[in-house]
Amino acid sequence: MSYDTQPKASHFIDGGYVEDTSGTPIAVIYPATGEQIATVHAATPAIIERALASAQRAQKQWAAMTGTERGRILRRAADIMRERNRDLSVLETYDTGKPLQETLVADATSGADALEYFGGLAGSLTGEHIQLGEDWVYTRREPLGVCVGIGAWNYPTQIACWKAAPALACGNAMVFKPSETTPLCALKVAEILHEAGAPAGICNVVQGMGEVGASLVTDPRVAKVSLTGSVPTGKKVYAAAAAQMKHVTMELGGKSPLIVFDDANLENAVGGAILGNFYSSGQVCSNGTRVFVQKGIKQAFLDRLAERLSNAVIGDPLDEATSFGPMVSEKQLNIVQDYIATGQAEGARLVTGGERLQRDGFFLQPTVFADVTDNMTIAREEIFGPVMAVLDFDTEDEAISRANDTEYGLSAGVFTNDVTRAHRVVAQLQAGTCFINSYNDAPVEAPFGGTKMSGVGRENSREALNHYSELKSVYVRMGDVEAPF
Ligand code: NAD
Repeated sequence: MSYDTQPKASHFIDGGYVEDTSGTPIAVIYPATGEQIATVHAATPAIIERALASAQRAQKQWAAMTGTERGRILRRAADIMRERNRDLSVLETYDTGKPLQETLVADATSGADALEYFGGLAGSLTGEHIQLGEDWVYTRREPLGVCVGIGAWNYPTQIACWKAAPALACGNAMVFKPSETTPLCALKVAEILHEAGAPAGICNVVQGMGEVGASLVTDPRVAKVSLTGSVPTGKKVYAAAAAQMKHVTMELGGKSPLIVFDDANLENAVGGAILGNFYSSGQVCSNGTRVFVQKGIKQAFLDRLAERLSNAVIGDPLDEATSFGPMVSEKQLNIVQDYIATGQAEGARLVTGGERLQRDGFFLQPTVFADVTDNMTIAREEIFGPVMAVLDFDTEDEAISRANDTEYGLSAGVFTNDVTRAHRVVAQLQAGTCFINSYNDAPVEAPFGGTKMSGVGRENSREALNHYSELKSVYVRMGDVEAPF
C-alpha cells in the first residue's frame, strides 16, 4: 500500500502527537479488504489527564482573543482542509470504507464548510443591552470552557469538525474522542487546526473505547459533552452529564419516514429514497429507512428502484467509479445480516439484495424489502445498513400517524407535487430535520438534530452557537440602592 495510514502517534495533545503504548491496542481495519492498516492505543489515565489539563490551560488564552482572531484561524484551517481534500478523502475511505466518490465531496469538504461558517460567525458573537428606565442590563455571551466531543464511526472528519468548529468559535477548547472503529481522521483535523494557528491544547484528540469517553464525560473540568452515537450510549452519556449538570448535545439514531405520494415525480422520489438509504452503505443516522409509498405508485416505484439499484457499482472504494462500498466492520455487517434474516422470517418480501458479497471485506448488497408492516422489527429498529423497508399507505392522515409512530424523531421526508400538502404534512411530522422533494441534504447553514429519542440540541447554523456558549446577565444600577433596613 503506497498511502501511509499509520498515524505518527495515537493522540494529538497540546499541539503535537503523543503516544503511550501502555494503552490497549486498537486495530484499524480497512473495511474493503479486512486488512489491518494501522494500530492506535487507547488513552491511559495519564493521557486523558494531559489532554484535559492542556485544554483547560489553552482555553483561557483562546477565549481572551477576539472572535475575529479566532475566526481567522478557523477559516485558515478550512482552506488547508480544502487544499488537502484528496489526501483527507483517501484517509476517510481507508478509515470508513466509504467510496472515494463520496468522501471527495462529503467529508473534508463539509468539515471545511463548518470551519469556514463558524469562523465567519466568531466575530459576530454579542450580548445585548436592555434599558430599564435609568438602569440597564447587558448580557455577555461567554464560552462554556472545556468541551468534550465523542464521535460515531460513519463520518469521522465531519463529526469532529461539526463539534470543534462551533466550540472553538465561541472560545471553548475541545477534547475529542473518535469512535474506536474509525480513529484516524480526527487526528488530521486537530493537526490542521494547530497548523492554522490554533494555540496548543485548543483541540486535542484522544483515542479509546467507551470507557475513555466515560472518563472524559465525568471529569469535573468538562463543561459540555456533545455525542454523536446510538440511543443506548446517549442515555448513558446524558445521565452521566446530568449528574454534574453539564450542557449536552445528543445526536443519536433514527428510523426516519420518507413519504411518497401518488402525485410525486417518480424519478426524484426514487432518487431521494436511494440517497436516503444507500449513501455510505446506509450508515447514515438521518436515513429515511421507512419508505411509505402510496398504493397508486407502489409498483412503478419498486420497479424503477430495482432498475436503478442494478446500476450501483459495488467494489473497490478507492476506485472513483465505485458508488457503493462495504460496511464499516464485520460486526456491523453481522448486525445488518441478522436484521435481513429477521425481515424474511417476519414475512417481509425481499425485492432485491440481501446477500453478503463473496469477496474480501465487509460488502453487503443494497437490500429492499416490500410489503413491510409497521410492527415488523425492520420497521421499528434502527438497522444502520443498506436495508430499505417499503410500506404501503392509502391516505395522508394514515401516512402521518404511522410515520410518527416511533420513539425516534431525527428526520422525515415528503415527495409530492402538491405544494400545500407538502407543507401541511411536514408541519405534522415529529422530526428535527425535514425534507420536501429531497432527502439528506445537510448544509452547515441549517440546524441539524433530532426530537424524541433522537437527541437534544442542534448542530450547525447559528443555533449551534447557543449550545457552545451561555449568557451572563449584568444588572447595572445608576441610582442609589433602596434597602428596607
Ligand atoms: P455508539 O453509540 O456505539 O458509539 C458512539 C461513541 O460513543 C463512540 O465513540 C463510543 O466509543 C462512545 N461511547 C460508548 N459508550 C460510551 C460511554 N458509556 N460514555 C462515553 N462514550 C461512550 O455508536 P456508533 O455505533 O459508533 O454509531 C452509530 C450510531 O450513531 C447510530 O445509532 C447512528 O444513528 C448514530 N449517529 C447519529 C448521528 C446524528 O447526527 N444524529 C450521526 C451519525 C451516527
